[in-house]
Amino acid sequence: MRVEGIEVLVAPLALREPVASAGLTQLDKTTLFLRVVTDAGIGWGECAAYPAARPPDLAVDDLEPVVVDRVLGRLRAAGPVGTLPPADAIAETCGGEGSVGEQMVAATIEMAVLDAELKALGRSLASWLGVGRRQVESGSLVGIPPGRDLGRLLDAAGAAIGRGARRLRLKIEPGWDRTPLAAVRDQFGDVPLLADANGSYGPGQQPALRALDDLALVCLEQPFAPGDLAAHRSLAETMVTPIGLDESLWSAGRVEEAVGAGACRVACLKPGRLGGVAATISAAVACASAGIACFVGGFFESGLARALNAALAGRDEFSLPGDLGDPDGYLVANPFSYLETAGGLVLLSEDPGIGAEPRPGLLEQVARHRWVSWSS
Ligand SMILES: [Mg+2]
Repeated sequence: MRVEGIEVLVAPLALREPVASAGLTQLDKTTLFLRVVTDAGIGWGECAAYPAARPPDLAVDDLEPVVVDRVLGRLRAAGPVGTLPPADAIAETCGGEGSVGEQMVAATIEMAVLDAELKALGRSLASWLGVGRRQVESGSLVGIPPGRDLGRLLDAAGAAIGRGARRLRLKIEPGWDRTPLAAVRDQFGDVPLLADANGSYGPGQQPALRALDDLALVCLEQPFAPGDLAAHRSLAETMVTPIGLDESLWSAGRVEEAVGAGACRVACLKPGRLGGVAATISAAVACASAGIACFVGGFFESGLARALNAALAGRDEFSLPGDLGDPDGYLVANPFSYLETAGGLVLLSEDPGIGAEPRPGLLEQVARHRWVSWSS
């Protein structure tokens, strides 16, 4: 593909309300976008890095410009002047296996090139991915309420169920686990319920986690630190509740390692962290062949990356609802259109490209721009 250049945009997006998980409250959602200008048209990519990132993820300021320029330089050196590899070769060309920052940038470039290619082909992402279904299920995330207020938690859970959420993912941390989960279970019956601890427990706190075993959770996600697969396996051997991993899964190779170690029975796969579509499919296939249930996790994306995530979630490897709700529900200003949503279902796009278009004026008003020429 002939390329004129790549525009790098950093847009100071913000969440409508602070969202608290163990040890982290997010409000600033400043996001890096790439706009690839090719002879076949324009393509857009969105990076998963976020301002208050914690390992294994990276903050926007840690990526732009150093990591972005390093990965772009590698791409530029890979082919003739003024060209880019096809989307399905981007991840491999960018390298970065094990470097989450480089994977995040690779995923962004892959998305932008794929968007341009699919528009030129007149093909939707869902079709390109071999997705047969027209719609996918969406779940909702419920953060830790201010002051650990149980009433506010139940209000938030009720509102999410009212909007049709097909499952709830509650954030927990030491001291805020059994009480909120049991309260939601009591009030809302058999709603599919996940508990996400974001690595906030130590191996010595297993008794508090085992006390959740009668709550019929879909899974207990990431109780321990991302690097500690052995602690997850040890807990899994003592609980009926499936153990899920999220932050531990920082590359496709790492997913295979975790599955092989028996450290999880559920995988939260995040394309923006894993390195994009190709890496996520590779990880999802490895999970499915080992009987591990998967869902597509989110980073409070704009409509662009979320449209890509929704199409991926349509693949058969993803058996659990993903984080696919409408970004207008959590972003003050979503700079991209999103898919049609109703009653916890997201209708996949049949339009050429990723399925999201920039909303006129929004990025121009708020973004920091720079232009990387590809021809010189
Ligand atoms: Mg998580």
